[in-house]
Amino acid sequence: MTNCVFCKIVSKQAPAQILYQDEDVTAFRDIHPVMPTHILIVPNHHIDSVNELTKEDEALVGHLFTVARKIAKEEGVSLDGYRLIVNTGFDGGQTIFHLHVHLIGGQRMRFPMG
Ligand code: AMP
Ligand code: ZN
Repeated sequence: MTNCVFCKIVSKQAPAQILYQDEDVTAFRDIHPVMPTHILIVPNHHIDSVNELTKEDEALVGHLFTVARKIAKEEGVSLDGYRLIVNTGFDGGQTIFHLHVHLIGGQRMRFPMG
């Protein structure tokens, strides 16, 4: 996916504040934070959205959450709480079609947002 900005961030061809990277996932700060803590966790290989996930991706999706948990702790939002969001498709507010989990926190939220 040569034109995907998140693929470029994963491969370090585009700048980002990367907080965590392993062979499967990368986490970096959102460029337009909506909360004091706003981090994106993405798979390293391109998947458009939740709609394209298969059974083979189940471990990867679990790993995205495990990494989100670790980063929430490091960011100091674990105890007060935080929100994980996966926007999917146009109505879901997805603007970058490379699967990503938003980790947002640092202030009290109501549900739903938006
Ligand atoms: P979504 O609307 O769920 O697709 O979220 C896309 C998110 O990516 C938004 O919160 C953007 O602020 C964020 N974003 C877009 N480009 C970049 C970038 N180059 N580096 C970091 N975050 C980005
Ligand atoms: Zn991509």
